[in-house]
Amino acid sequence: MAKIDLSNISHSYNPNDPNPVYALNPFSMTWEDGNRYAILGPSGCGKTTMLNIVSGLVRPSAGKILFDDKDVTDLKTEDRNIAQVFQFPVIYSTMTVFENLAFPLKCRDFTKSKIDERVNSVAETLNLNSYLNLPARKLTADQKQLISLGRGLVREDVAAVLMDEPLTVIDPDLKFRLRRNLKEINEQYKTTLVYVTHDQNEAMTFADNIIVMSEGEVVQTGSPKDLFERPNTTFVGYFIGSPAMNLFESEIVSETEVKVGDIKIKTNTNLSKVKNKNIKLGIRSEFIDLADKEGNNTVKAKVQKVEDFGNFKLLTAKMKNFTIKSKIEREKPISNDEVNLYIPAEKCCVYEDEKLI
Ligand code: ADP
Ligand code: MG
Repeated sequence: MAKIDLSNISHSYNPNDPNPVYALNPFSMTWEDGNRYAILGPSGCGKTTMLNIVSGLVRPSAGKILFDDKDVTDLKTEDRNIAQVFQFPVIYSTMTVFENLAFPLKCRDFTKSKIDERVNSVAETLNLNSYLNLPARKLTADQKQLISLGRGLVREDVAAVLMDEPLTVIDPDLKFRLRRNLKEINEQYKTTLVYVTHDQNEAMTFADNIIVMSEGEVVQTGSPKDLFERPNTTFVGYFIGSPAMNLFESEIVSETEVKVGDIKIKTNTNLSKVKNKNIKLGIRSEFIDLADKEGNNTVKAKVQKVEDFGNFKLLTAKMKNFTIKSKIEREKPISNDEVNLYIPAEKCCVYEDEKLI
């Protein structure tokens, strides 16, 4: 296992073009040994490029990759001691399941007893133990992907296991169990796991550290809680959470207050140095509650829709031209006409040019 540093990395697939397009803009980041990371972002934002730079399949246009402070930028994939699992299964179809799983260990001259021990342990984790003697081609698509995953996990000595949307072909129930198993493997063997996905739930339930990307840019790195409570940009506020963060075009009216339409809202942000341009107020629907009467930081809104999700109700209301969404405890009665909604100052995020102030 290793600490992995990405130092001033950037990448263009057409670097010699007069107008090169950057799939990855310059960034630096450290992946600590033994942690679980998710790289999250919409399709085309550069996730696979980042992963392939770490594994050595892509050489970055600029910057360095360090494994435990050793520069590996010019090392080939085979020499980097990385296990990679791709979106679609890669298996040796003429070999048995056992032989597939044993292959990375055989290539490295592990003893027979060590191979048996590791293969059986991984097969058990992935529920493949009753198939070990079957030819791999006889298995279903999702079982084949389990074999790919297993091949990545049999070696305890890898620097990291890199997974690029590995559960795409696997059915939802099994996905849930597998993510839990991957977490157990990480806790047990302290394997550094990096998991690429475009699905926020997958990222949030799998990783302690999430790297959010948008258009070749790392926009925020943090825990699920950081991303939820203090999104760095309006993109993160919008992309993470369900529903997306409420975002209102605003004006600054005092050191800590903004105006949404003609409604003043107090925040805990110091706005004294901010130019009054392209300001947005962000507030999660989870933090907005019904208020009995008008007061500080309450807004009047006209109810448009109430959806019952069982464990909460999602209220959609209109305050002037703005649509506001609020998650309300399911027992609370909601008027079908007008409501007062309370917006707590300490949960307000203020954005200037889409960046958190
Ligand atoms: P993601 O995995 O997030 O979907 P990718 O890293 O695959 O994103 O792609 C990032 C950008 O780089 C996209 O605009 C994509 O079209 C481009 N790209 C990816 N691979 C290549 C390639 N081999 N040659 C040229 N452009 C590529
Ligand atoms: Mg990809």
